[in-house]
Amino acid sequence: MEAGMEAMVIGGGVAGPVAAIALRRIGWDVTVHEAYADPAGDVGSFVSLGDNGLRALDAIGCRDAVAARGTRLPLLRLRSGRGKLLGEAARGRVTLMRGHLVETLRALALESGARIVTGRRLTGVGHGRTAVFADGTTATADLIVGADGIHSRLRTVIDPAAPAAHYAGLWTAGGRSPHPVDPDAFTITFGARATMVCAPTPAGTLWAAQVPSPAPPTGPLDHAALAALFDADHGPAATLVRTTDHWHPRTVMQALPAGVPRWHRDGMVVLGDAAHPMGAGQGANLAVEDAVVLARCLRDTPDMDTALTHYETLRRPRTTQMLKFAGANRDAKISGPVTARIRDLTMPFFFRRFAAKSSAWMHDYDVEWNKASTLPPSST
Ligand SMILES: Cc1cc2nc3c(=O)[nH]c(=O)nc-3n(C[C@H](O)[C@H](O)[C@H](O)COP(=O)(O)OP(=O)(O)OC[C@H]3O[C@@H](n4cnc5c(N)ncnc54)[C@H](O)[C@@H]3O)c2cc1C
Repeated sequence: MEAGMEAMVIGGGVAGPVAAIALRRIGWDVTVHEAYADPAGDVGSFVSLGDNGLRALDAIGCRDAVAARGTRLPLLRLRSGRGKLLGEAARGRVTLMRGHLVETLRALALESGARIVTGRRLTGVGHGRTAVFADGTTATADLIVGADGIHSRLRTVIDPAAPAAHYAGLWTAGGRSPHPVDPDAFTITFGARATMVCAPTPAGTLWAAQVPSPAPPTGPLDHAALAALFDADHGPAATLVRTTDHWHPRTVMQALPAGVPRWHRDGMVVLGDAAHPMGAGQGANLAVEDAVVLARCLRDTPDMDTALTHYETLRRPRTTQMLKFAGANRDAKISGPVTARIRDLTMPFFFRRFAAKSSAWMHDYDVEWNKASTLPPSST
């Protein structure tokens, strides 16, 4: 499609600013509307970006600025709570605070010429793609991009029957501790009662505990009880919790297991968590990939509907595969003691033989920004 088209991006989290930058790269006029006045800064938890997410950022010239805000660790290491090494892979990733990622992406979006309006929450879309906001203002555009996260409003505008996310049996709490951990690895320890994820950074060790629970937690977080969940485990988990001097907010993991049936309609499209909430792990990476692929399809396809169909055709298989992986990953963290014992016995074998190869689809993915995208005839 030609340059000079107008896009309205709803949501200024991860996917929103990346979509804005990618759309600016193809010459579109872009305004991002973000619900909160200022959700960026040193708030929230941390995320880690793998080679796939970083490669997608590189395609639109953002990789270096993002990587400079984080810590690159060369290894991914998995351990059991009994102290056994379950697996190790040279899968480098950059770990950074989500707030710093958002802050950096927004600055890059502004630099690219996009506008960002904060404190503007989408409530609905009327005739002629007229977006209506909670403050009473309205706006129109050729394309409305829903980068408005797991509880996306645009998802239900596109399809009023779209399913809603619900509690996925796991909550997380985390923080930063001065206690040192393995300096070279992003480490995941499957403990007897909860999973501990940790990453060393110059500011201290960032950690997140993932706690299985049939119902979401209520009341304030009990730090001592959280630490006690790791007392029976080998490794630094319990000490990390007890020595934490900077806490991140508790998060309840949500999922949409059946997926989102409809991603686009009449010049409106969803991406990132709005299209396929993943839970922790790869959600931000996929959000970045989506945004770049969407711009590529709009660049290379003559009309809107075909471009959005093309985007979905390219992204659906990958996000479906990732949703399956994320579901299995979550189940592994909420498994009972017997399943956990089997996992601890079998994982080292499978990890050594198959992990590098079988996870290549996840990390080696390329958005192919420089390649013209053409829709296969069967998809039109
Ligand atoms: C604890 C935790 C750890 C995680 N760790 C990782 C990790 O290590 N690696 C990884 O890849 N992913 C991780 N994720 C997942 C990742 O954070 C998400 O997948 C990613 O942020 C999705 O990006 P998004 O832009 O689609 O949505 P979001 O980042 O949620 O952004 C949505 C934005 O839209 C705004 N918004 C919402 N509704 C409206 C509205 N009506 N109008 C206007 N604006 C609106 C919100 O305020 C927000 O700014 C983690 C998630 C959690 C909870």
